[in-house]
Amino acid sequence: MHCMPVSARYRPDPLFAKLGPEFADPVAPARFPQHVLRWRNQRWAERVGLGELSASEWEAHFARFEPLPDNMSAPLAMRYHGHQFRTYNPDIGDGRGFLFAQLRDGDDRLLDLATKGSGQTPYSRFGDGRLTLKGGVREVLAAEMLEALGVYTSKPFSLFETGEALTRGDEPSPTRSSVLVRLGHSHIRFGSFQRLAFLERPDLIQVLVEHCCAAYYPQHLNLSGEARVAALFGEAVEANARLAGGWMAAGFVHGVLNTDNLNICGESFDYGPWRFVSVSDPTFTAAYFDETGLYAFGRQPEAVSWALAQLGGALSLVCPPALLETQLKRFAHGYQVGLRDGVFGRLNLVEGALDADMAFLSDLFGWLTETRAGWDQFFFDWYCGAASAERAAASPQAQLYADAAFTPIRAAMETRTGSNGAAFLRHPYFQRAAPVTMLIDEVEGLWAPIAERDDWSLFEAKLRDVALMRDAFGPS
Ligand code: AMP
Ligand code: MG
Repeated sequence: MHCMPVSARYRPDPLFAKLGPEFADPVAPARFPQHVLRWRNQRWAERVGLGELSASEWEAHFARFEPLPDNMSAPLAMRYHGHQFRTYNPDIGDGRGFLFAQLRDGDDRLLDLATKGSGQTPYSRFGDGRLTLKGGVREVLAAEMLEALGVYTSKPFSLFETGEALTRGDEPSPTRSSVLVRLGHSHIRFGSFQRLAFLERPDLIQVLVEHCCAAYYPQHLNLSGEARVAALFGEAVEANARLAGGWMAAGFVHGVLNTDNLNICGESFDYGPWRFVSVSDPTFTAAYFDETGLYAFGRQPEAVSWALAQLGGALSLVCPPALLETQLKRFAHGYQVGLRDGVFGRLNLVEGALDADMAFLSDLFGWLTETRAGWDQFFFDWYCGAASAERAAASPQAQLYADAAFTPIRAAMETRTGSNGAAFLRHPYFQRAAPVTMLIDEVEGLWAPIAERDDWSLFEAKLRDVALMRDAFGPS
């Protein structure tokens, strides 16, 4: 076993492995010709007691996947099915990733260290089990940006370039390879339950419900039987509804809201063909292969709600549907709260009655869609509401704010403006000429010098900018 400094903050707790052989398969990590560190999340490493790892220890654990002390003895490829673009697929599962450690953070959350690109598994089908370097870079960028915007997201923990040449249809090939480690709050997907329903194993659904309750929602352990199942489902509904609201406030299009990409804690994860919107456009679609716009920006709440109904369908093998339907009704309220938290966080406004706040948000989104105002620019211009009036008047889109159509929105922000805006606005982020954004042109623009001459400076500069913005908004 590799020797490492043991920090008091490192709290291993490999609960998933104790579930037994029905839920995952032990797998061996791929061996890579090269390990070049491209991203180390020191901030989160410290929060989970792994910040003191030396460079060689980091490489041993997050590129060669030597077990962490007192943690899982072998990586596990998790078993799951899922609806992909509404078609049920029983042939998926962790095909290029695995879970290899679990640990608790300072808030006592049970977190996973899981991979993407770590080699083939029984679920790889015809895939190579690998992640492109561009794919790894894109996941780091998406998750860092979402965290900074206050969205509940997995954290990119580590990214190594691995020295292989991959062939892909959607990137100029051969293309470079990487292995990503993600720190996430659960990788138990809706599809983990769907698989057990497909196999007609209510006994195993019950086991997984108990596990999820103990690991993630211990406040419901006092309930028993069907009530516990319903409570767990209600939590999943609430958490995922809030997440959908959070994405909308962030202007984020996940791209692939299949039931294997949504989990029971409502944490956003697994970033593939994501995009951020530049203007409010409900039809904006991220994935080129999403031909009908099923997962378009404005259809995300509907997509998550549909996926939750599938989770409910699986749980109906162990709980009367009527109890589950009652819980599913929590979606609308959860979504509204998530949306309001997200927008009010980005604008630092003071909440009032939910109905009135929702009416304001409806006007605001209508105005943003109608005018095609710059999305991030709007939020940047109006941070702290009326306290930013002078800044907004100097914005490149100040003309839009002078228009009569904006008057009710301005008024609604004024009534929700807090008292200490000036102090918040002194942060260096708000002295910048422009907001930090993560639009597709910028992503392609920072990838190009990496691809052409291994120049990582724009990538690193972007992550520094995102960190400044995160600091301005404070801890979420
Ligand atoms: P994703 O689109 O990343 O959520 O993946 C959907 C399914 O395809 C999952 O079962 C993945 O494990 C599998 N998959 C995607 N890419 C690969 C690959 N390169 N090799 C093996 N399996 C893959
Ligand atoms: Mg996935």
